[in-house]
Amino acid sequence: MTTRRKFIQLGALASLASFTKAWGKPTSKVSKPVVISTWNFGVGANAEAWKILSNNGRALDAVEAGARVPEGDPKESSVGLGGLPDRDGRVTLDSCIMDEFANCGAVACLEHIVHPVSVARKVMEKTPHVFLVGEGALKFALDQGFKKEKLLTKESEKAWKEWLKTSQYKPIANIENHDTIGIVALDAKQNLSGACTTSGMAYKMRGRVGDSPIIGAALYVDNEIGAATSTGVGEEVIRIVGSHLVVELMRQGNSPQQACELAVARIVKNQPQKSKEIQVGFLALNKNGEYGAFALQKGFTYAVYSNEVANKIFEAKSYY
Ligand code: ASP
Repeated sequence: MTTRRKFIQLGALASLASFTKAWGKPTSKVSKPVVISTWNFGVGANAEAWKILSNNGRALDAVEAGARVPEGDPKESSVGLGGLPDRDGRVTLDSCIMDEFANCGAVACLEHIVHPVSVARKVMEKTPHVFLVGEGALKFALDQGFKKEKLLTKESEKAWKEWLKTSQYKPIANIENHDTIGIVALDAKQNLSGACTTSGMAYKMRGRVGDSPIIGAALYVDNEIGAATSTGVGEEVIRIVGSHLVVELMRQGNSPQQACELAVARIVKNQPQKSKEIQVGFLALNKNGEYGAFALQKGFTYAVYSNEVANKIFEAKSYY
């Protein structure tokens, strides 16, 4: 058998396998506008986004405003202020944003700034670039008028010092030494945008960047098709360029639910053993207000706000 034929057959088997398990409820559909975001803290983010969406505002403004909520909350230990640090005790933030024209901006390894999502938006709007990192991103943020602040809270510092006693890097699915807010919205004019922001995996190596600021990995928006975002162990999402994959699967005719399931199945296919121990979750929303979610493990929650769904939390179905 030629390698190409073998490849096609394997591909067909893989997608068949992913549908033999009766996973998700069928994709849900709501009227526009709608905003959906990852984890329980999505509720606070959605509420802020909804103020804009329900006033005929732009999805881009809504997702930025939404992402800023957990970023500014010192009690959220996985995003912005109060985020858990890397193993050297430094809080480094990753974020990106993308609009309906495929404009996008991103920052990674940004220190001392509470709202990296807004810096990412400035990168998108004020520079000829897409992505600024580290000291360059900080300099740009300060030039743009953002204030330098201390992001390591007493609680996060205490947790880090506790971690130092064993220094074991072992992310535990849903037990929150990681989390990210990924937020996607469809506005009243039927335009899509998305944003993603995180402090990344707690106690990561200095300089480590996950999926969250990478356009195509943790966020992708194609205004003709839909938008997708992800959370979980970023390395596995980067390997499959997850959110872009989800959007392309929707382009091929899959519902948002099916697209999320297929992307998760791809991670399982690549990493059959590892995928049993880690969490990755995808959320997708298409141009018609249909949305879906799927994760490797149980416990991945997301929040939906639309005229029909009053900012409710749902638990995604999972592969395992
Ligand atoms: N995806 C994030 C990262 O890898 C972490 C998370 O969502 O839990 O940095």
